[in-house]
Amino acid sequence: MSRRYEARRERAVGAVEAAGLDGLLVTPGPDLRYLTGYDALPLERLTLLRLAPRTGPVMLVPRLERPAAAAADGIDGVALRDWLDGEDPYEAAAGLVGTGRFAVTDGTWATHVLSLQAAVAGIELVAAGRALAPLRAVKDGDEVSALARAAEAADVAFRDVAEMPFAGASERDVAANLEDALRRHGHERVDFTIVGSGPNGASPHHGASERRIAEGDAVVMDFGGFVGGYGSDITRTVVVQRPPDGFEEVYGAVHAAQQAAFEAVAPGVPCEEVDRAARDVIERAGFGDRFIHRTGHGIGLETHEEPYLVAGNRTPLEAGMTFSIEPGIYLEGRFGVRIEDIVAVTADGARRLNLATRDLVTVR
Ligand code: ZN
Ligand code: ZN
Ligand code: ZN
Repeated sequence: MSRRYEARRERAVGAVEAAGLDGLLVTPGPDLRYLTGYDALPLERLTLLRLAPRTGPVMLVPRLERPAAAAADGIDGVALRDWLDGEDPYEAAAGLVGTGRFAVTDGTWATHVLSLQAAVAGIELVAAGRALAPLRAVKDGDEVSALARAAEAADVAFRDVAEMPFAGASERDVAANLEDALRRHGHERVDFTIVGSGPNGASPHHGASERRIAEGDAVVMDFGGFVGGYGSDITRTVVVQRPPDGFEEVYGAVHAAQQAAFEAVAPGVPCEEVDRAARDVIERAGFGDRFIHRTGHGIGLETHEEPYLVAGNRTPLEAGMTFSIEPGIYLEGRFGVRIEDIVAVTADGARRLNLATRDLVTVR
């Protein structure tokens, strides 16, 4: 287990070195989990991992967090230092960082960045995003399996909720059912439960309101969370007893677009071509101006990460990349349709991690 984390740290150091930097500074968040297995509390107290070429990894932690840090999966080989409440952690960090140009992980709080700059003479900090993103974007086999488990739990949650009554329930009732089902099927954390019924479905990130769902509504449900630290994210659009006027044509276009994008996935294909494949189908159906977002986003330790399937992203896909394919059509004042699966790039194509039916489901 720890060898896996060591290899990740070596690749990270290689990447920052190749970018002409003196090292990498990591605070709590997905990058720290990726590099050490340590799921640290995001606190105002400073926790800081320093990786640099030709010197071993060092992590500074608040003394009270030391037992938790020492118990992390991938901490072997990382020298722990601590600081005590009342001491100045940035002074302690100065001793461990020194002058030079360092990458800091994207989620590092401004308060930590500014305090480090004030405490360490001659330090220059740049965003690590560019250097680190390619590492985390390509998953190993264990990570793909973890994402498949998360996807399966979301699939089963969808099937459970589709059996429950919708007509007469509020969007919040359905969102609560989704949350329960996700937890029941193994999610340690539920991150979002979007339930957009009727006209609310035309707003992609609607949330869930007190609106009462009625017969003839379409309902967009987009939900997910984390299983074993890895994310789930699925969208299904159902109809309550019967579809609204004009719905089937729109559903058919989104369904076909989702499939076309899936079939476009293979190693070497630029990200933007997957987006193009989905968009072509929707444009041909006459709804091009109603598909108002990119086709997908990478997923792993975070719900949104590299690679982004969006016009302008020429990054070639690689086996082991995992991302959503989620085209949608949004008709203001009427309804929305989105279908989203997580897929993994394989040696010669793609594999769906979500297997819940994409055919139109009619609920009560
Ligand atoms: Zn979204
Ligand atoms: Zn989603
Ligand atoms: Zn998504």
